[in-house]
Amino acid sequence: MKETAYWLDTAAPAVPTPPSDAGNDADVIVVGAGLTGLSCAYHLAQQGARVRVLEAHGVGWGASGRNGGMATTGLSISLSKAVARYGKERAVAMRQRYNDAIDLIEQISRDEGVDTEFRRAGLMNLAARESHVPHYQREATLITELTGHPAHFLDRDAVREEIGADRYFGGMIDPAGASVHPTKLLGALAAGALSRGALVHEHTPVTGRERTANGGHRVRTPRGEFTAPQLVVATGAYSKPPFGWLQRRFAPVGSFVIVTEPLGVDLAESLLPHRRVCSDSKELLNYFRLTEDNRLAFGGRARFLSRDVAADPKSGEILQREMVELFPQLHGVAVEYAWGGLVDISLDRMVHSGTRDGYWFSQGYTGHGVQMATYMGKILAGNVLGETDNPWAELNNPPIPGHVGWPWFVPVAGVYYAAVDRFSR
Ligand SMILES: Cc1cc2nc3c(=O)[nH]c(=O)nc-3n(C[C@H](O)[C@H](O)[C@H](O)COP(=O)(O)OP(=O)(O)OC[C@H]3O[C@@H](n4cnc5c(N)ncnc54)[C@H](O)[C@@H]3O)c2cc1C
Repeated sequence: MKETAYWLDTAAPAVPTPPSDAGNDADVIVVGAGLTGLSCAYHLAQQGARVRVLEAHGVGWGASGRNGGMATTGLSISLSKAVARYGKERAVAMRQRYNDAIDLIEQISRDEGVDTEFRRAGLMNLAARESHVPHYQREATLITELTGHPAHFLDRDAVREEIGADRYFGGMIDPAGASVHPTKLLGALAAGALSRGALVHEHTPVTGRERTANGGHRVRTPRGEFTAPQLVVATGAYSKPPFGWLQRRFAPVGSFVIVTEPLGVDLAESLLPHRRVCSDSKELLNYFRLTEDNRLAFGGRARFLSRDVAADPKSGEILQREMVELFPQLHGVAVEYAWGGLVDISLDRMVHSGTRDGYWFSQGYTGHGVQMATYMGKILAGNVLGETDNPWAELNNPPIPGHVGWPWFVPVAGVYYAAVDRFSR
């Protein structure tokens, strides 16, 4: 079994090392080559800006190369909760950004002529408890009435038409949801940025940062110092000093994915006949989808760890057990990949983006970053170039109480949510 992400193993983005005489005259430095950073670089380069991306590891090393590749519609909170919190008009506008973000992935794939395996198969939310069913019924009605994008409620019989498993009590389909191969998307962004003159320095961690006398930014790396008038920090759940201010505002929570051997089209489509992207309603949720080559990718929180989670065999075993409990037909099927990564969870489960000490940032996608990181990269590029549109800039963004660096509270929260799942009906 490989402990690397299936996506990186099958399509690692190729990025040439910039020449050593590449100079130091960028307009914008972007720190982090995940979807936020590369999308920002891509959209800046499209507008003619000279961009330098600095990445501590390789392109897609963070969450962007390790996720489930599910471009899910909707905020990280339900529409009903968003309406209660922000009012109807604002909540609907916020939710629309997630749909726009999925459209953007489709557009980038088309514009760059790259098959990113973008498939609009629809998102299916599944009720893991009988008591969760009315929520989906109300939510489907609300989404249909308020947003102009119909969502469909599923009762227990309808769910059985959608999934070869008998564990779910109901659910909801949002047809706008999609699947994508995340590192093929990263590859399209990287190629598009590079072809427009951007430089991407892999294995170049930023270890220090200061303002220059003329109001610009200077960053230190083991490969030397770089300066630019503008700085974008796109370090996601991997933020650490010198970006400690960002680090204290998000909980880095481990999430894990396993991928089976190829199942063949018949077995694969007996599990998910419409190849939808799926996620269930447990606090420690499972999410799953088919890949183009008919494997099942099956993810979940598995263990709440506060240490490096790039590979955790124990989490892989837990997920395999959960997968076979859900789909007994997969008993004896080999798991070929198991990996983990950090999800950037914000306290209010909303995206947070804006400026801090003159640099631009966007984080807190709370499990919805495949499309929102791509989208916010574009929004940040616009902000750098003087546009004011940023849907999240006005949200209050306090630090997580007690978060001083090491996220001691993550395992504590894990125990709590596991108990909620165990005892709820
Ligand atoms: C297992 C897993 C499954 C997920 N599944 C889904 C899903 O199905 N759908 C969905 O919408 N979202 C999902 N997510 C969340 C989504 O992947 C993220 O929200 C999104 O990729 C964040 O992108 P990003 O570019 O902001 O951060 P990242 O992709 O984490 O990139 C940050 C980059 O910054 C670099 N970096 C950090 N510090 C420095 C420094 N000092 N100097 C230079 N570089 C630095 C890191 O090396 C990293 O490459 C999942 C996440 C995980 C971990």
